[in-house]
Amino acid sequence: MTIRIGVIGVGMIGQDHIRRITQVLSGATVTAVADADTDRAREVAAPISGCRVLEAEAVIEDAAVDAILLTSWAESHAAYVLAALGARKPVFCEKPLATTFADCLRIVETEAELGARFVQVGFMRRFDQDFRLLRAAVRSGELGAPLLMHSAHRMGAVPHTHTTAHTVNDAVVHEIDTARWLFDEEIVEALTLTPRHNPNSGLALIDPLIVVLRTESGVLINVEASGNSAYGYDIRGEIVAQNGTCALPDRPAVITRRAGSVSRPVPSGWRERFVNAYDVELQEWVDCLTRGGEPEGPTAWDGLAAAAVTDAIHRALATGAAETVSLPERPALYD
Ligand code: NAP
Repeated sequence: MTIRIGVIGVGMIGQDHIRRITQVLSGATVTAVADADTDRAREVAAPISGCRVLEAEAVIEDAAVDAILLTSWAESHAAYVLAALGARKPVFCEKPLATTFADCLRIVETEAELGARFVQVGFMRRFDQDFRLLRAAVRSGELGAPLLMHSAHRMGAVPHTHTTAHTVNDAVVHEIDTARWLFDEEIVEALTLTPRHNPNSGLALIDPLIVVLRTESGVLINVEASGNSAYGYDIRGEIVAQNGTCALPDRPAVITRRAGSVSRPVPSGWRERFVNAYDVELQEWVDCLTRGGEPEGPTAWDGLAAAAVTDAIHRALATGAAETVSLPERPALYD
């Protein structure tokens, strides 16, 4: 069985995922695409045998589309996810699930009423081998109770249009999902701190930004989010637990010794660092659908919980105080 995928939004990550589906992964094909820019959609569809260009709503309704891959602008996600739920079709939605908490809640409530999981959200770190090993180390119990986590999300350089809201919504959101998944509990509180300003960054951008998150059991996660690290894209994480620590390795792992120095390259960006994670993420999604099962990756609830925490971070930035994260009761569908 081949899963026939309709892709809505064929910009940067949409095209990257289409390359993956058509050239790297197995068990799926792209049968329809839609984009606000119809010429771009035609260009992307042209080399794919049998792929049609349709309006987004028509992709969702199309009888030759089994599942939706949603990679359009974040602002359009909620309407398309709800339409996919209306058509009872699985939808892989790149993060964020929606740009407002209210829209995320509407999606969760709609899916809960249907009584089955259709939505997977693109938090790809859960599919990265290093993050999976880190989680296994925590969950093995050998380290005892986790106490805190130091993490860093360093981008090499961001464009001048990059705002503090982008840092929170596009970068820190990955740390939020990672922490919820690593420790298997919700985040209940968020605080922000702003150290001395990086002269490489525009004055309007808070850079670096420190975010401190607290989980239900009291684990503290401090996140350093840097827009202009100047040396590359570096994702770091170390968990301190009762009986020891565990940490992400440096990537790529190859070390060169030459001319009196030891060196290791630093990834240039997220595409390079997480290329394998994206492959695994989409292959596992396709495999779940092929087996006729529900998606097993990050759920609509995970998208909602991340939105609740980013909202609390934005409030903390405004008030300077620790802000409580508000979540409704979790529907049984997500247990
Ligand atoms: P992008 O390059 O701007 O691509 C978005 C595409 O969607 C554009 O071709 C855009 O067309 C089209 N589009 C916008 N609104 C649409 C609508 N209502 N219906 C149909 N098409 C529409 O953006 P991107 O960087 O690929 O990001 C897309 C999504 O993926 C975002 O939500 C982003 O946060 C997420 N993302 C996730 C990760 C990750 O690590 N998981 C990484 C990158 C991106 P026009 O340009 O003509 O408007």
